[in-house]
Amino acid sequence: METPNAQKRFFTKQLITWHHTDNDRQLPWKSEKDPYKIWLSEIILQQTRALQGLPYYLNFTKAYPTVRKMAAADDEDVYRIWQGLGYYNRCRNMLATARYISNELNGKFPDTHEGIIALKGVGPYTAAAIASFAYGLPHAVVDGNVYRVLARFFGIDTPSDGTEGKKLFHSLAQELLYTEDSAAYNQAIMDLGATVCTPQKPLCESCPLQKQCIALKQDMIALLPVRTKKLKVKERHFNYLLLQHDDKIWVNKREGKDIWHNLHELYLIETDTPTDINDLKKTPAYKALDTKSKPEFAGSLKQQLTHQTIHSRFYTLSIETPETLVLGHGKWVDIKGLKKIAFPKTIVSFLEKNFYF
Ligand code: SF4
Repeated sequence: METPNAQKRFFTKQLITWHHTDNDRQLPWKSEKDPYKIWLSEIILQQTRALQGLPYYLNFTKAYPTVRKMAAADDEDVYRIWQGLGYYNRCRNMLATARYISNELNGKFPDTHEGIIALKGVGPYTAAAIASFAYGLPHAVVDGNVYRVLARFFGIDTPSDGTEGKKLFHSLAQELLYTEDSAAYNQAIMDLGATVCTPQKPLCESCPLQKQCIALKQDMIALLPVRTKKLKVKERHFNYLLLQHDDKIWVNKREGKDIWHNLHELYLIETDTPTDINDLKKTPAYKALDTKSKPEFAGSLKQQLTHQTIHSRFYTLSIETPETLVLGHGKWVDIKGLKKIAFPKTIVSFLEKNFYF
């Protein structure tokens, strides 16, 4: 698809002018030049909205003002600050990258696009953002916001998640980039997508692009951008038993390739369907507890992840003889020490509701 050059020039000029005159979106990492802090903000913002990520950014930069400080941190402390952000792979990669930069690169953040994109957990979007914001390198960011703005403004109905679409949007974004100030351009398009050309009810009347926007002219805003793949969401059923002995609770560190890697949880029995306590008692995992205590139902919670819905049911159960229990890698911890342990959001909510925190 060929887009007229005049329309492309209009796009870039309007966007940059809008950025310098009307873009009043305030975020603490904007105009930041320290590549470590830019990287940190971009890792936090992957799959997280800016307002949700903001307190995490502030907490991390306060606890670890330099990459060396983060590299020297205790894993458990870093996971605890990350707690609630989800996608814990990001946290694991972040720590590995901080240690790589500190140990292998002598604490110096890479200053080329190739060097940045080679870092663990850094994809094309994050690399373009760091390269342009920290070093003014001419790389255009392309993410959901950018797909939306470009698809609507240029009236592109090629699916943005197909191979052809990805290629088309990436090369168009690169062509539109204002190379004299790539940082300003990238910031402008991200902010316009987040605050003006929003997925629902975009603010076209105050949009600097409205005069030549094809979607607006042809009444196609709700139809663009086009996506082919529908997100498949898996339903999972977690039955959690809070095992208690005196002032101690049994917790387990999650390992293996699954969600919440490296976080802690209570005694888990996962079932394929919602299961009541009578059926749960018949499972080998419950029988392994070898207890005659009566489990008490303590509530249920639902947590929505991008590809999974986690339905959790919680029970409390006293354990009389913990020393005879053999339960994998878990350990008994003092209730007072629970706050120091990193748990997934759903367990934090349960513990808070039931006054364990
Ligand atoms: S005019 Fe409306 S649809 Fe077009 S780019 Fe602006 S906000 Fe988006």
